[in-house]
Amino acid sequence: MFTGEEKAVIAVALTMEKPWDWKPGGTEEATLVAAKVKIRDLHRARHGDRCCYCRFPLHGGGHFIVDPEHVLPKSLDSYRPLAYTVWNLGIACKRCNMQYKRAKIDFVIDAVTAAAFQDSANYRLIHPNFDLYKEHISINMEMNDDATLIKYTKRPGSEKGLYTYDYFNLQEREVGTFDAAQGLDVPGDLEKGALEAQELARQFGQ
Ligand SMILES: [Zn+2]
Repeated sequence: MFTGEEKAVIAVALTMEKPWDWKPGGTEEATLVAAKVKIRDLHRARHGDRCCYCRFPLHGGGHFIVDPEHVLPKSLDSYRPLAYTVWNLGIACKRCNMQYKRAKIDFVIDAVTAAAFQDSANYRLIHPNFDLYKEHISINMEMNDDATLIKYTKRPGSEKGLYTYDYFNLQEREVGTFDAAQGLDVPGDLEKGALEAQELARQFGQ
């Protein structure tokens, strides 16, 4: 999918300390940006313009809400060579990427053996490229005048569905959107609200 020039400049970028954020300026940088846009557009199309972890619509969102997502984080030395590898990339919302996933690798079962990295079974979460989200979590989304309502239904028997729901605190997405829909102020501290809701759900055996 990359042109010869793009491949060449990516190869150089991969020798840098921060390959994804390398800014050489001039034509090299323009070529690198073109390659990044290709990667982003491919994943936007593949995921119907939604976050690969919470499926929230990213449609029309510029770089302020859409993050290129490196599944195996680019900030860790061992995964730096995968910074431009398409199967390790996706698009995510800032919430999932920055608040929950960050540079953690606790969702990887074998975090060392390169041969395992392209195997869905090596990931506890729903992988943007090796798994089909709907096989693990079904989503019902409805928009009304004031809000976008989301309901996540974990597929029975899917461990990845359970894991992803918890890992990205998807209940918060439901709570936050339903609160907004009911005309209540969405609390600034959404995480706290979601934790309280989880605790209530636990107490009432939900
Ligand atoms: Zn998300």
